[in-house]
Amino acid sequence: MSSMFRLLIGGRHREGSRLDAAAVHNPATGECIGDVACATVDDVDEAVALAAHGLAVWRAVPPWERGRILGHAADLLRRDADRIARTLTLEQGKPLAEAHEEVERAADFIEWGGEQARRISGRVVPGRHASQRVEIQPHPIGVVAAFTPWNVPLALAAKKFAGALGAGCAIVCKPSQETPGCVLALAQALLEAGVPAQAIAILFGDAGMISQRLIDARAVGKITFTGSIAVGKQLAAAAGAAMKPVTMELGGHAPVIVCGDVDPERAADVLVAAKYKNAGQICLCPSRFFVEARIAERFTARFVAHAAALRVGDGLAPATQMGPLANARRLEAVAQLVDDARSRGAEVATGGRRLGTRGNFYAPTVLTRVPAQAAVLDEEPFGPLAPILPFSDEAEMLSCANRIEFGLSAYVFTHDAQRQRRLVDALEYGAVAINGALVHQAEAPLGGWKESGIGTEGGIEILEPYQTTKHLALD
Ligand code: NAD
Repeated sequence: MSSMFRLLIGGRHREGSRLDAAAVHNPATGECIGDVACATVDDVDEAVALAAHGLAVWRAVPPWERGRILGHAADLLRRDADRIARTLTLEQGKPLAEAHEEVERAADFIEWGGEQARRISGRVVPGRHASQRVEIQPHPIGVVAAFTPWNVPLALAAKKFAGALGAGCAIVCKPSQETPGCVLALAQALLEAGVPAQAIAILFGDAGMISQRLIDARAVGKITFTGSIAVGKQLAAAAGAAMKPVTMELGGHAPVIVCGDVDPERAADVLVAAKYKNAGQICLCPSRFFVEARIAERFTARFVAHAAALRVGDGLAPATQMGPLANARRLEAVAQLVDDARSRGAEVATGGRRLGTRGNFYAPTVLTRVPAQAAVLDEEPFGPLAPILPFSDEAEMLSCANRIEFGLSAYVFTHDAQRQRRLVDALEYGAVAINGALVHQAEAPLGGWKESGIGTEGGIEILEPYQTTKHLALD
């Protein structure tokens, strides 16, 4: 037996020690596209032991050279973009054009991590006596344990590899086993560019076992996770028990505030594109639409018409604008949220049903007259589902917008400068987009407030989560 997607340990692709494997499915067809090897406890331990050696080798590579290697890896990702984008679409479902964008974004992050490696420096603090000084030295924090999800599997992994490798850390990554191929392609580009074989490991398999084993491993100095709030809390608790720092990039349920002064048709056009990108499976995606009552009818009409006209299909077909949901769990979760809203009196303005029986297709859906008790207003839909909520009282609307535990992203549409400032100041969210969509670019830090996360990724501080300092007192 040979799995198509194998573990990567010490630079060697191999099966798990017990030869366990799981099927990987194309979400557009349901067909099995290959098996993914599953790691055992021994495999995890071996990966960590080798990564500890990899850390010693990689941290000794001068940051300037690390920067060159990461820059080269970014070029290799761009060189292989067609192949990697196809893999991404096959295993995750997104339209090929979106997959290409994701490869480009992953390359940007890797390149940016390398550029920031070249800027690593310490500082000198004057002492209390003329001959005294304190030197503050940055050091790589250790082996990084990274857990990455299936929705934007390449770019979200690239953020973590960029920061960890730029800082001089080794990294052991457990990607979602539903989308294994693109993270293996990322690792391949990094190894081909010159990252030492032992500095990178990729493990698939039982998420609970692998995460606990990695968190408890002595050589592991940092835990970084992107995924749901529920799993983030479990991992943060386990990391706390082992006294290890975490970076958490968790879920969102973004409010969108469309004020009466904007062109409702233009706002609807921008927001339909943002809402249904990756079939709504993006943590920053707009998901609760508060629209000022005087333009709500025009906004809704345009939004519904546009959503209903989206061409849904296999991401490999050139005409496709929205692909399938990435897995059957999402299909069921979205259907449940729609059924719950409907049973409480909401109207389905378009969609509200599964499309066909082959693959995980769900129609772009718009809900109106949604009662406050509907679960979709509290639970992240993480799917192609848009509740539209007309408002006339700004203070009441803001209290609904801020009411939930999520604090990742929010959207404001108005040209009134004072109102923009007032709304942005009031929103308890880590990222706010004004009059447009939100994409996380490598050069800017982004992270969630409240339960949506701990820490940021990207920006000039991209290496910081993966560094620790040494205070050197010199007399
Ligand atoms: P889930 O909560 O089971 O898993 C979320 C992610 O965590 C997956 O990638 C999974 O592989 C991983 N995971 C699960 N248990 C783990 C463990 N013990 N250790 C390490 N990793 C573990 O849910 P799901 O059905 O895969 O995803 C649905 C929810 O996840 C969505 O509602 C959304 O809120 C959230 N999500 C968020 C993001 C994001 O970008 N922030 C990405 C993917 C999923």
